[in-house]
Formats: sequence, C-alpha cells, structure tokens
Amino acid sequence: MTATMNSKTTSPALDNKVPDGPIATKWEDHKFSMKLVNPNNKRKFTVIVVGTGLAGSSAAATLGELGYNVKAFTFHDSPRRAHSIAAQGGINAAKNYQNDGDSVHRLFYDTVKGGDYRSREANVHRLAEVSVNIIDQAAAQGVPFARDYGGLLDNRSFGGAQVSRTFYARGQTGQQLLLGAYSALNRQIHAGSVEMHNRKEMLDLVVKDGQTCGIVVRDLLTGEVESHSAHAVVLATGGYGNVYYLSTNAMMCNVTAAWRAHRRGAFFANPCYTQIHPTCIPASEDHQSKLTLMSESLRNDGRIWVPTAFDDNRLASDIPEAERDYYLERKYPAFGNLVPRDVASRNAKTVVDEGRGIGPLKNGVFLDFADAIARDGVETIKAKYGNLFDMYANITGENPYERPMRIYPATHYTMGGLWVDYHLMTTIPGTYAIGEANFSDHGANRLGASALMQGLADGYFVLPYTIGDQLAGKLGEGTVPTDDPVFKAAEAEVADQTKKWLSIGGTKSPEHYHRELGRIVWDRIGMARDKNGLEKAQDEISSLEEEFKKNVRVKGDNTSMNTELEKVGRVADFFELAKLKARDALVREESCGGHFRVESQTEEGEALRDDENFSHVAAWEWNGEDTEQTKHEEQLDFEYVALSQRSYK
Ligand SMILES: Cc1cc2nc3c(=O)[nH]c(=O)nc-3n(C[C@H](O)[C@H](O)[C@H](O)COP(=O)(O)OP(=O)(O)OC[C@H]3O[C@@H](n4cnc5c(N)ncnc54)[C@H](O)[C@@H]3O)c2cc1C
Repeated sequence: MTATMNSKTTSPALDNKVPDGPIATKWEDHKFSMKLVNPNNKRKFTVIVVGTGLAGSSAAATLGELGYNVKAFTFHDSPRRAHSIAAQGGINAAKNYQNDGDSVHRLFYDTVKGGDYRSREANVHRLAEVSVNIIDQAAAQGVPFARDYGGLLDNRSFGGAQVSRTFYARGQTGQQLLLGAYSALNRQIHAGSVEMHNRKEMLDLVVKDGQTCGIVVRDLLTGEVESHSAHAVVLATGGYGNVYYLSTNAMMCNVTAAWRAHRRGAFFANPCYTQIHPTCIPASEDHQSKLTLMSESLRNDGRIWVPTAFDDNRLASDIPEAERDYYLERKYPAFGNLVPRDVASRNAKTVVDEGRGIGPLKNGVFLDFADAIARDGVETIKAKYGNLFDMYANITGENPYERPMRIYPATHYTMGGLWVDYHLMTTIPGTYAIGEANFSDHGANRLGASALMQGLADGYFVLPYTIGDQLAGKLGEGTVPTDDPVFKAAEAEVADQTKKWLSIGGTKSPEHYHRELGRIVWDRIGMARDKNGLEKAQDEISSLEEEFKKNVRVKGDNTSMNTELEKVGRVADFFELAKLKARDALVREESCGGHFRVESQTEEGEALRDDENFSHVAAWEWNGEDTEQTKHEEQLDFEYVALSQRSYK
C-alpha cells in the first residue's frame, strides 16, 4: 500500500542511506551487504563512546566485546549514575508472550502511528524487529524482569497500544537494565577492551578534513583540558528536556555534547518535538528545581478524573460518582486512560485551564486507584506499584492507597536530536548519535516504554553492525595525533571559553538564568504553541541571553571541582538550542504529536497535521555564531502504514 503524499524531495545534504527492498527483510538483507571488519583488524580501530546510559553502556560493551578499542566517557562519577537509571515503567518488545495479537508489524505500526507519522518507516521497523532480542539479552544478563504466576516473563500495557508488550522490573526497569549493561561494560573494562573515563565532560568534537577525529574533554575534578583521538565518535549523551528547567530528567542532563557537535557540522533535527508526560507530581511552589514522574504504568489501573464543577474544593472522597468527569474514558472509549502521552497531557491542560484543576494550587488532576484496590486488593496493587506509591507518599505526604494521587504533565523526553541516517551516523562522517541524543525513531511523539527499547536497540544491535561498514574503509589509517593543530585549536577554544565565564563577574547565577529561560520555553514552547507566542519567545530568549552573557556570575576557579562553571556552559548551549526550538516550532505550521500549534486543530481539538507541507524531518545546519541556521528537509514517505488522522476513540 502506498500512501506517499507529496512530491517534494529530500535535501541533497541528507542521504538517509535507507536500503531498498521490502521492509520486513530490509535490515536482514542490509546486514549481509554491509562491509565487515575481521576480528584481527577490529583491534586496529579506536572508537570513542561519550555517555554511559543505556545507549552508551550497551554500545561500549558490545564494541569492546567485538574487539574494538573503546574509550568511554561520562561526566558522572560512575556509569551507573546515568539518567537511564530513573526509568521506571518498562521496556517494549514484540514478543507476544500474552498471545494477545502482538507482532513485529503491530509494534512497528503502533510506533509510526503513535509518532503521528513523522518518523522514518525503515528505522522503526528495524527497531520493532530487534526489540525481541533485547529482552533475551537482558534476561541472559540476569535482569530481574517481573514474572507471572507460571514463572514466565510478565507484561503490562502502556499508552498507545491495545496489547500488553511492556516488560518491567517493578518500578525500576531502567535501573535493572542499566545494571545489566553496566555489568557487560565492566567485563570489558576488566578485559582491557574498554578504557573508562569518569568525571570528564566532552566540550568539543574535533573534525579534520571533514572526518571525525576525536573529542576535547575537561576533567571536572582538576579542570585540565585534554584531547582524545579516535576513528569514530559515538554520542550517547541523552536528551535536552532540561531546556525547560523544570522536567522529570535528572538535573545534570543537558544538550552540550550534541550542541557542540551541531556547531561542528552535525545537523540538529526537529528540536521543537518534546514530550510532555501526563503523570508527574504537580509543582508545589515557585522555587522548585525538579519534577517527579509517576510512571505511565500507573495508568493501567489508575483512573484519571476531575470534578465536573469548576473550582471544586471538596476532598476527592466527598465528590460523588455523578459529579466526577473521567474525561479520558469519556472522550476516548477505545483507549481510555491509556491514550498516548500527548493526548493525555493536552486533555489535562484543557481541564485545568477550564478551572477544574485540583489540589492546593489547582494545578493537577486525580489519578485514582480506589476501583483497582476494590477489585484486586491492596496487596496486588502494592506488588505492582509499591515503590511508586511509596515515592509519592514521601514527596507529597499523602497516602495514595487512601486518596487519589494528584498528577499534571511535565517535560519528560525529547524526540528531536542529532539527525542520523539509517546507520545512525550524523552529517559528520565518523560521528554517530544513539539513544535519546539522536532524533530517533519516535517521530513527533514517543510511546511509553519505547525509549529504553530504542537506546538498547541502538547500542546492542544496530550500531555495532553499522559502524563496521564505515570503519572497514579506513583500514590502514591511523588516528590523528592529539598534538595536531586541529586538536590544539579546539583545546584553546575550550580553555578561552572557561576563562571568559570566570571573568564576567556579574550578579546572577547560571541557575537563575536557567530558571528564567525555562519559564519562557515552558510558557511559549510548551504544551501548546502559537505564532504570536513563538515570535515573542524568540525575542525574549535573545534578550535574556544577552543579559546572561554580560551579567552571569561564576564563582570559584578552574583548577578544582566547580559545578557553577560546569553549569554555565550548559546553560549557554540551552540558550542557543531554545532559539532554534522556537524557530523550528514557528515554521512547522501544523500540529503533530507533542507539537501542538493552536492554529492547527480539528473541530474536536485534536492535533491536525498538514501532510502536504510538513511530512518531513526538519534538520538544521549551523552557519556560525551570528548567522541563522539553514533548514534542510528529509521527506518522509509512508509505504507500509497508511497516513490517517490519529484516533484513539
Ligand atoms: C523519570 C523517567 C522515567 C522514565 N521511564 C521510562 C520507562 O519506563 N521506559 C522507557 O522506555 N523510557 C523511560 N524514560 C526515558 C528513558 O529513561 C531515557 O530516554 C533513556 O534512559 C535515555 O538513555 P540514554 O542512554 O540515551 O541517555 P542517558 O541515560 O541520559 O545517559 C546520558 C549519558 O551521557 C553522559 N553525558 C552527557 N553529556 C556528556 C558530556 N558532555 N560529556 C560526557 N558525558 C556526557 C552522561 O554522563 C550519561 O552517562 C524515563 C525517563 C525519565 C526522566
């Protein structure tokens, strides 16, 4: 079935390298046609992996196991600190253990549809194919996935799917998967194939004659700036959700590695695509610096509602059934509380904006387990979600077994990122991006439990094949020595920049500017965007950035650990990203997935796509400090999933 909708062409700068052939066998066939590096030659290549979350750890461990010389970097004190450890709910895979109609094709279909038809079909199909291997790999490593009564691996449902395909380890799936990947990584560190560099922050990517040759890092404990040379660099540095300041991401998450690569020539794709997760604990005051996610898995059993009356101050228990609006069940009977995240988030915003919000600040909706507890018993609910309930009680002081949780959407995940081809290579030859750092397989909206799947698919099963195809052509070439002028120039730039931040001597901290930037980004480029607001955002971000550069205050020095100094560079990159994000959102004059343009909605208030004009990936090319980026387009053609208005009714 062909549903291609436009005749526009892809920019010549974006060769996605998607192989020909039927989608079901494309990846298998391609694996055979790619060049191989034989085992003895692998040790002649050095590969740098920046980031040791699920994507980076799995890639570094696998490349090490294959025989490459790997250098892995993280700014954390241990790979185990990566933000991946926070993932709670689960990981998708098309195993069909439940025998409820799942298949590789259905996972592929759900993901393309869930992403609102803004992802590349070939990549998504490959992701669905290798999803099944990930579970075997993790189970073999000893990841303690939940099991059912008979001892088989258990599954639950996540949003945007009508089958149960989510594997989980209570509410700690990311932690357990990371322990698995970390063990594999440690094995390679012990074997000598991976050289681990903790507490080093990548601050530049080094490119010589158009080819990647290494990175420049700053030692966060001593301030020393050093270069590392390699045949290829893999960026597994996570997402940019903290551009909003308040988010569910770990506080250290930032865009710096990806942004510095962008400034060296890697195109940045779809920066306006951000996922706002519907089930977070609402902000409780103005100076809060972090929001907490309550896993999507809770929507399996929790029912979401608000009072039908406006400004209702009664306790939930005092509101009779007839005066409750279970708005997701009412509007979307087929998916109910398990509609995808973008739909659930927008609906929560609508009822709160209407004046039906609950809680002290009227900024939340109820997530109610009373029916589930009455049906299954408290022990069953405890076994499924006990640690999440405890976390909620610790943070709010309220007992969720006795009264409904309060939840509200918050920034959670970024679908945009570095543009990559089918081989996961950026527009700089030899630089790869994997996991949340790339623009990924999730289109304009990621389905729950699919980030862990993608990060591990990239790291364990895709990159280890595709990187060889490029490296095979470099056999006999050494790495560029780190005393080459190209490294020395990059080191000098990093050192100068550091000195500059320390010398400004302004009055406000990097944290202050981050918080103010986040306010603008949330207000203007948050759950709903319009032309007027986006134009204002551009002006407001630019003037705040100007003030930041003149008035930021960084205390301390450069020869010992200095978290303000670390932060100021990250905030500077967030400013540049925020400007691009506003521009990307402004020129995408359609709604799709997590990008909701107020001007483009159906009569029922759902996101209205414009396939004729916007069925493309927007990939932005850096043109230098004071010049706007150039937009390139990769057209998206849909041969196997027919484009339609998404409906979860
Ligand atoms: C609270 C929460 C719960 C979630 N739950 C789920 C879930 O249940 N299922 C699911 O599928 N997804 C979930 N997600 C999303 C998922 O956790 C992430 O998308 C995924 O873990 C990202 O993995 P990653 O390896 O790409 O990046 P990360 O885990 O963010 O790792 C990034 C790594 O890069 C390093 N790094 C970054 N910049 C630099 C630099 N400049 N120099 C050196 N090192 C650097 C960091 O030290 C870190 O090691 C959740 C997210 C959150 C916030």
